[in-house]
Amino acid sequence: MQTTEAIWSSALSDIAKAVRPEQFNTWFSDVSLTSATRDEAVVRVPNSFYCKWFEVHYEGLIGEALRASLGARPAIRFEVVQRELRPSAARTDIAPPAPPPRPASTGLKLNHDYVFSKFVVGPSNQLAHAAALAVVESPGLSYNPLFLHAGVGLGKTHLVHAVAHALRKKRPELRIRYLSCESFMNQFVYAVQKGGLEQFRRRCRQVDALIIDDIHILARRSRSRTQEEFFHTFNELYNSHNQIILCSDSAPDDIRTFEERLISRFKWGLVAQIDPPCFETRMAIVRKKAELRGKILPDDVVEFIAEITPTNIRELEGAVLKTIGYASLMNRRADIGLASEILRPRRARHAIGQITCGHIQEIVGKWFGVTPAELQAKTRVRSIAFPRQVAMYLSRKLTNKSLEEIGRAFGGRDHSTVAHARERIDREITADAEFNSTVDLLVEKIKSGDSPND
Ligand code: ADP
Ligand code: MG
Repeated sequence: MQTTEAIWSSALSDIAKAVRPEQFNTWFSDVSLTSATRDEAVVRVPNSFYCKWFEVHYEGLIGEALRASLGARPAIRFEVVQRELRPSAARTDIAPPAPPPRPASTGLKLNHDYVFSKFVVGPSNQLAHAAALAVVESPGLSYNPLFLHAGVGLGKTHLVHAVAHALRKKRPELRIRYLSCESFMNQFVYAVQKGGLEQFRRRCRQVDALIIDDIHILARRSRSRTQEEFFHTFNELYNSHNQIILCSDSAPDDIRTFEERLISRFKWGLVAQIDPPCFETRMAIVRKKAELRGKILPDDVVEFIAEITPTNIRELEGAVLKTIGYASLMNRRADIGLASEILRPRRARHAIGQITCGHIQEIVGKWFGVTPAELQAKTRVRSIAFPRQVAMYLSRKLTNKSLEEIGRAFGGRDHSTVAHARERIDREITADAEFNSTVDLLVEKIKSGDSPND
């Protein structure tokens, strides 16, 4: 039996792949799973606004993400964290129950992959990396605050998660808090509106390390109460020698809408910039990302990927995943031929207009293990009818032929049969992400003009 925590952490890693990182950091850093069965899962959220938001936006996604561990998709119930009750003044005769012992940083939600051992160090990020290690060594003392800045996708979030992971392991007694800037702002605004400011302050200020990601976002609220709140949070933590780590997309001086007093504080500790990685570092990252998926890519493929993806490491990683994923789905070697085929915006060997229904029938038939003749025959058994509908759908999508013409190519069927196939497959694609990617793959195969045996 998996623990609830293990189930949640595996669901979170799926969710992280499905939403944008900013969304993930904003919404999922303060959410936890309290119980989960195949019928019902209870997800704990910080306040009722989260509740409403999650019901509308994330219920389906969470259900799907839990399905993998639970074997079925449970109904999701969102529950708001209960406020702590104050001990009643009249009951002084009874000692309040001792709080249950718990690790200092429960609720710290981190990406499992963002650890130091998976971070490639090169000239572009050496300083930031060394500073991050120093913070782990002596939090609050070496570099406080640590201010990391870099363009998008260059490893800020990875590095600060790595600090939190390492600190948690080395000093489990420390209270570490990681918040996206948006979470900080949302929670503050909510606390002001609904009461609960004290609790909010306790959660941000009574910690040994506070990490706020994407702090530049706070700059949009020039001279606001949120900036003011952050200023006081900063001071309190700083004065009590607690560690502050901030990430930003620009250097302190370049965030003009911050108040001067905040900008100067950002520079009290260490400001470290991460530059775009050089070619060698990019190659090392490509190798590392492949290795983490149990694959070794040939040198020419590594060079090719490093060359065509000049800066953003997230894109570099995407190119590696695409190469590996495609090779495994298509049962091909991840060689330079395959990499250049799928990673370059390539000229389709088949333009629309040249693709025939016969070609589509061959590719789709091969995929599902049926012959073109069966696709054209009258039989309605599901194992043939379904591939036939897929082939009709793709014929409509990838050729200029009318419904009537397509019907004729599939054994003289009526145009309404083709229209029905198209609607049905459209629905399936919307409902089932996996099926959607199968169809994408078939489209690729058909357009690339592969022979069905490739
Ligand atoms: P940022 O927060 O700066 O936008 P992220 O930390 O989210 O960037 O990094 C984007 C992706 O690139 C992540 O998947 C991360 O693991 C990867 N990445 C960034 N820098 C490195 C590195 N030096 N080594 C390995 N992976 C990296
Ligand atoms: Mg980031």
